[in-house]
Amino acid sequence: MTTSSHTKMFKQLKVKSFKLKKFLKHNAPKERSCGKNLRKCARCGRTGAHINKYGLKLCRQCFREIAKDLGFKQFSWGG
Ligand SMILES: [Zn+2]
Repeated sequence: MTTSSHTKMFKQLKVKSFKLKKFLKHNAPKERSCGKNLRKCARCGRTGAHINKYGLKLCRQCFREIAKDLGFKQFSWGG
């Protein structure tokens, strides 16, 4: 099971309808009101290294990839 979605498990349970019902009853993730699991990357779904500043809602890896397209400039790094 990944952090992005527990529904990915449905692929295996599609044929077994009763087991799917049981799975939904017992294995659905808890509804969160707070905590770091609510702040997921909008692009890839990671929960770690989240950047919420300027309303980005991205993880650091995605930010690194698309920062130039968003208009960010690297201030200084070497020559
Ligand atoms: Zn990401």
